Parts: sequence; C-alpha cells; structure tokens
Amino acid sequence: MNFQELARDCVRALTPYQSARRIGGYGDVWLNANEFPRAESYSLTQPLNRYPECQPPALLAAYAAYAGVRAEQLLVSRGADESIELLIRAFCEPGKDAILYCPPTYGMYGVSAETFGVTRRTVLSTKDWQLDLPAIEAALGETAPKVKVVYVCHPNNPTGNLLDHDDLRRLLRMAEDKALVVIDEAYIDFCPDMSTASWLSSFPHLVILRTLSKAFALAGLRCGFTMAYPEVIQLLLKAITPYPIPAPVADIATQALSDKYGENGLQRVKRNVAEVINNRRWLQQALSQCSCVDRVFPSEGNWLLVRFSDVARVFRALGEQGIVVRDQSKQPGLAGCLRITIGTREECERAVQVLKEVQ
Ligand code: PMP
Repeated sequence: MNFQELARDCVRALTPYQSARRIGGYGDVWLNANEFPRAESYSLTQPLNRYPECQPPALLAAYAAYAGVRAEQLLVSRGADESIELLIRAFCEPGKDAILYCPPTYGMYGVSAETFGVTRRTVLSTKDWQLDLPAIEAALGETAPKVKVVYVCHPNNPTGNLLDHDDLRRLLRMAEDKALVVIDEAYIDFCPDMSTASWLSSFPHLVILRTLSKAFALAGLRCGFTMAYPEVIQLLLKAITPYPIPAPVADIATQALSDKYGENGLQRVKRNVAEVINNRRWLQQALSQCSCVDRVFPSEGNWLLVRFSDVARVFRALGEQGIVVRDQSKQPGLAGCLRITIGTREECERAVQVLKEVQ
C-alpha cells in the first residue's frame, strides 16, 4: 500500500515542528525547552472510572479567578498548542484562508496551519522585533487568501521582548471586522503586569493564550487556556474533542491554581517566578563577561537569547558537557543565536563554566 499517496498533500509536504523533545540530545542539564527546572509533587483526588467533563467547571473557575476573567470567556485545552490548532480549525477554510504571524517567533503557528492546508502569511518583525504594522495592514487588506487569524507572541519566543502595547492596540483596530488577533501569553506569568487580559472587554476579536507549562512548572501536564469573547469560545467548543482534558489533568491543574493547597498552589508559582527572574539576572551578567558571547538580549521570559561569535563551536562545547540548549540560528535575523532556558542556579553556573572556556 502506498501510504504516501494515501496521505493528504499538505501532510506529505509538511516539515513537522521540531520540538525540543523530538530533537532530543544527550545530557543532564536540560536548558532547551523553556521548562521549569524542578518538579513539584501532587496527588490525585478524583476517580477515573467516569469520563471527565469537557470543560471541568472547578478548573475553569480557578483559572478565571487567577486571570481576572469570567468562566464563559475561558476554554481549557491540551496545552496552548491545542488551542493554536483549534483556532485554525474553527476559523480558517482550508485552501482558501490564511493565518498571519511575525517571524522570528514560535514555530507552531505555521506548522498548525500547514497541517490543515491553510496558507501561512508571514510579516517579518522590525529590526527591534516589534510589529511591522504597515506590512500587516497591507496583508490584512488582501482578499485571497484572506487572513482570518493573526498570531503574535508577547513576550515573544525566542527573542524575549514584549510587544509595544500601543502597537498591539493599533493591530487590534486594523483587524476589526477582518480577523481574530491572538496574543500568545504563554510566558506572561513572568511579567504579569504586561498582560493584555483587561482588554478583552474592549476588543471582542481579541484571543489570549495561556499555559501551565512554564511558570506553573507543569509542562508534562499539558494544560493551556484560551481567553476570548464568549461567542468565540462557543465556536471553539464546537470543534474540540468530547473529552479533551483527562481527569488527572483537571485534578492537578485545579490544585496548582488554588491557594488551599499551600505549597502546591499559587504561592509556589510566585516563588518560581521570583527564582527564574533572579537566576536570569545572574546568568545575563555572567554571560556578558564571557569572551565567546557577542550579545545577550534582554528577556522577559524564562530564557535568554544569546548571540555568539562562533555558535557551532559553543553548541558543541555545551553538548559535550551534557548541557542541552536550543539552536535558533536558522530563524530569520537570529544567525549565531542560542536560546538558553533559565535552569537552577547550579545549572546556570555549569553552563557559564563551559562558556568561559570557549574562545
Ligand atoms: N506558545 C509559545 C510561545 C510557546 O513557547 C509554547 C511552548 N513551547 C506554547 C505556546 C505551547 O505551550 P503548551 O505547552 O501549553 O502547549
């Protein structure tokens, strides 16, 4: 049987997303996937013999309280990644519509569009990694393929910067009656004051993505949230699978979002964020004194983007010492750059020790 012929054209042609797990690597210091470096422990409190609720009410209520939105403005999914895909499935017609995003940025927007035969429109960020609004406006004005969803990442992975709030407001105004504007806030817990969640009541076409994979130290749980106008949430719920959130996921996520559980609750998140920011500051300072480092870019997330004079050599030297980081040098404008997740202080020190010896 010729399975290649049987498969859809767009899947046959697809280059799958190269996740940190898929790329793999060997080592004992994992600074390649923007995970939190230490695990927390939880116990299950719910039975498993029944199907879970499609949208577990206790979990929705807990995240709504955390994010300052109403439960009807919220959808919970298998990580923010599922929501990126769901938005395309619910709003873009394959072979007809497009999504738009601004490289260098997170790779899953493009891959998700490709798997559904939806056109990818890209508008490169400006030199300081802000939105090129005139170019975006021109793309939004085109009728075929028609841009239905715009994805922007705030703070942006992998460049680490926030987007200018006035630019985001301008983008929302230019997309009005044309497209959804999805602000991916996967890393906003590290800079919560910069969230755009309070704008949801002013812009019904604004969609915000969140996740428990980063500051909540729960990447293995696979739990993400979409905040949007209730009618948009209802459309997404039409396209989602019947039981997307396994009962243990809802159980643990609800505990992580509660203050009732002391160490497992929101206090722990605050402590995680403070620890990451502290280590990030230390690493930034230490890296700026390494001679192989060309530039350390400021970051609002749980990583640093670093440009090296000889990136291949640095990547090899780190790998030989069991330190796995993420190569970003193929992304537009990021030649020579590696993304280094903020690990424990000891892990950061091990990376710096290696880098000090690379000439
Ligand atoms: N958006 C961005 C910008 C990310 O970096 C990630 C994690 N790689 C995601 C979304 C997906 O997060 P999740 O683990 O919730 O699927």
